Amino acid sequence: MVSSGAIQIPSRLPLLLTHEGVLLPGSTVRFSVDSPRNMHLVRERLLKGTSLKSTIIGVIPNTRDPEHDTDDLPTLHKIGTAGIAVQVVGSNWPKPHYTLLITGLCRFSVSSLLKERPFVLAEVKQLDQLERYTTPQRDATATDDGELGELSEKFYQAAVQVLDALSLEERFKKALPMLTRQIEGLKLLQKTRKMSPDNEKRVTDVQSLYAYTVIYFPNLEDEDDDGDDTAALERKVHGANMPEAALKICLKELKRLKKMPQSMPEYALTRNYLDLMVELPWSKSTKDCLDIRAARTLLDNDHYAMDKLKRRVLEYLAVRQLKTSLKGPILCFVGPPGVGKTSVGRSIARTLGREFHRIALGGVCDQSDIRGHRRTYVGSMPGRIINGLKTVGVNNPVFLLDEVDKLGKSLQGDPAAALLEVLDPEQNHSFTDHYLNVAFDLSQVLFIATANTTATIPPALLDRMEVLEVPGYTQEEKVEIAHRHLIPNQLEQHGLTPQQLHIPQSTTPDIISRYTREAGVRSLERKIGAICRAVAVKVAEVNHTAVFDLAFSECFAVCLFSDKAAPPELPIVIDHIALKDILGPPVFEMEVSRERERAACAVFIIHKVITETCRIYSHDHF
Ligand code: ADP
Repeated sequence: MVSSGAIQIPSRLPLLLTHEGVLLPGSTVRFSVDSPRNMHLVRERLLKGTSLKSTIIGVIPNTRDPEHDTDDLPTLHKIGTAGIAVQVVGSNWPKPHYTLLITGLCRFSVSSLLKERPFVLAEVKQLDQLERYTTPQRDATATDDGELGELSEKFYQAAVQVLDALSLEERFKKALPMLTRQIEGLKLLQKTRKMSPDNEKRVTDVQSLYAYTVIYFPNLEDEDDDGDDTAALERKVHGANMPEAALKICLKELKRLKKMPQSMPEYALTRNYLDLMVELPWSKSTKDCLDIRAARTLLDNDHYAMDKLKRRVLEYLAVRQLKTSLKGPILCFVGPPGVGKTSVGRSIARTLGREFHRIALGGVCDQSDIRGHRRTYVGSMPGRIINGLKTVGVNNPVFLLDEVDKLGKSLQGDPAAALLEVLDPEQNHSFTDHYLNVAFDLSQVLFIATANTTATIPPALLDRMEVLEVPGYTQEEKVEIAHRHLIPNQLEQHGLTPQQLHIPQSTTPDIISRYTREAGVRSLERKIGAICRAVAVKVAEVNHTAVFDLAFSECFAVCLFSDKAAPPELPIVIDHIALKDILGPPVFEMEVSRERERAACAVFIIHKVITETCRIYSHDHF
């Protein structure tokens, strides 16, 4: 079949298995590739190859590439088209895939399969002569190919006429009927594409061409032809109850989105933006259910001591109840770690019946962390305030700005300045995140800040806040906190009951002084957690096997080795010995003694130096 003068395609071709679209010799088709074998072919052949030959592949129609490369190959369609890959575009959205632009060269038949993995390689037999398409003898072939040939000849002639038209007007006259015909055809294709659901996400050249024609001929745009999901998005935009300005921007973006092909990177950006806009709680809020008496009980139940702080919080809440649009200062709890600052914030949210969200500001040194990135940046996203609002889904949550004293500063702007706008009641009703680029009303949000020290809080920020000191606890207070709150909480968290574990009041001071050294109670809570875990193991074992010793201190050693030991008596009481077994030797006693040793050593050296100096001095003088 192949004449001696014809250009030969390679006898071995890697095969691209396709089930959508047919590549004909002489035509150019875009294929979207995301199945394993096809992806391997692109990566290992098209992207790695450096010669022209490596861009030639065989396209087999009517054959679906299996979803996993471990799956067997289906029967291949007998005839394929050898094509040259003229463009490879990779994208990770919505999932990793390549879009190949392939121009068909000639037909071939598969003689034998050489390998199936990582991509299909086959011995092929060329069926057409390549010159017929590269140097067409138009007069001779047109008659040979019958009706189809006539049709292609018509298109060919029309295109030649456009080429020959030198004046712009004449060219326009020739091109317009062709374009109109093409648009009609594309619309028809678009409609049929929409009818089959598995084609929904496919990105074809038809679609992108259609989008471009819509851009250039806006009057031809048919409003009813929106994709299903853009229509759903539009409904959501109208239902989001957003202010006029935001709605206007959303509708504008939506209009742009409809005109974009899905393969365009900007499509994903606009889509994400609109998704966020419809998710934001523009007018969704919870109803405050503040009863000062109940709030006092709740605060007292949740926290021991902290009387001054609780009193001030109640005053604050009472004023807020009387005057809903309170433009008072922001409360800032300042104190060492673990004294209950965050936990009071959470209780305030509970007393008000509001959502709670914590924004950690430690280490934030870029103002776009607060205010978001402009959408012109790649990977731009909204700031933490807007993200927080999206997470809680209401516009009146309690936001705890944790660790405002650890805000940083950098070349990317001062985050404290952005926070100023957030916290200023005069400005925050129209807070504009750079990503949203439209104002969001933050005036209903209740902000509370926490810090370890006021020394490093930016002065302008400190000026907006009312500082409430939360000092550390005395040993007696810690014992009370442990027994009223920490131990019951930890028991519950570990699925234990007081009938299973008992930490006597006499043991707690030991845990506090020998295993923790802190102003707050966080380490203490962790140590109690460690005790609960150790006991949970024992209790769980009791439930399954009866292999325990009576004494808890012996239990650890015995239960591992002895099958005959008796189960422990419940509740397991944590005495000093058990404490040592679980938490190890006391941490701080040892350190104290080492300190003492070091101090004694230093005194001894100083003593030696003084005596020696005295000796030399007396020797010199006498
Ligand atoms: P901070 O935010 O000050 O670092 P947290 O609020 O995270 O501290 O508190 C750590 C743990 O200590 C929490 O489990 C909290 O409930 C508990 N806690 C601290 N102070 C008290 C208190 N006065 N009464 C009850 N629990 C407390």
